[in-house]
Amino acid sequence: MKLIFLGSGSAFTVGDGNFHSNMLLVDDHHNRLLIDCGSDARFSLYEQGFSHRDINDVYISHLHADHSGGLEWLAFKTKFDTRPPSKPVLHISSNLVDTLWKNVLSGGLQSINDELADLSTFFIVKEIDNTNKFQWHSVDIHLIQTDHILNDKIWVPSYGLFFKINNITCFITTDTQFKPDKYMTCYQQADIIFHDCETTATPSNVHTHYQQLLTLDPAIRAKTWLYHYNPGLLPNAKRDGFRGFVKKGQSFDFYDKSSFT
Ligand SMILES: [Zn+2]
Ligand SMILES: [Zn+2]
Repeated sequence: MKLIFLGSGSAFTVGDGNFHSNMLLVDDHHNRLLIDCGSDARFSLYEQGFSHRDINDVYISHLHADHSGGLEWLAFKTKFDTRPPSKPVLHISSNLVDTLWKNVLSGGLQSINDELADLSTFFIVKEIDNTNKFQWHSVDIHLIQTDHILNDKIWVPSYGLFFKINNITCFITTDTQFKPDKYMTCYQQADIIFHDCETTATPSNVHTHYQQLLTLDPAIRAKTWLYHYNPGLLPNAKRDGFRGFVKKGQSFDFYDKSSFT
């Protein structure tokens, strides 16, 4: 099983050849789970040799366009492709699904000539209930609610992922502010952490900044890969005790531990 980064850049990544931080989890039977489908996905998938036809399942962490803006493309492309496979399975928190349709997708997708479409026209929708877990083939995946953006003092739903494959426990933060106390149990239990890492001169305060990650305990830094970073010069993450910055196209093989080092 492999985790492939189709891109490792931020929402505003442009000009450095990188793409949005979307990933593909591929199992031993060539089932493929797309982890977030941003507006770069149609380019980033093709660059790694995949197409819409290779996506069996898609998981959406939250509704920013670098994570969900490619869904219209995926929906139309699979709907009007007459060859199998048919609809992708959409895994999404029940706290996000209505807003995804009403506020993100319906404007483009709801009218197919004379047919009035809804989300189930394009996807097999599997809402993730408040137990915050779902199973994807042999993998039990837990959602970790993250603190990414506030709206009128209420956290807008956003969820990272925590799972174990072949005795390697992974925590993928997706987009999050720096909240070490909130995530400490995940940090400690994970063998590998993929962490949101902003590298701008001025922090946005809705992502975790590199300078904040430097304050983490060395033992946590030592198992942390950094992604969702900005274009431009990057700090020397290995010298600072991290695993490094994930490169576009980088692949982590759960049967080859050296790929994580
Ligand atoms: Zn993002
Ligand atoms: Zn975001």
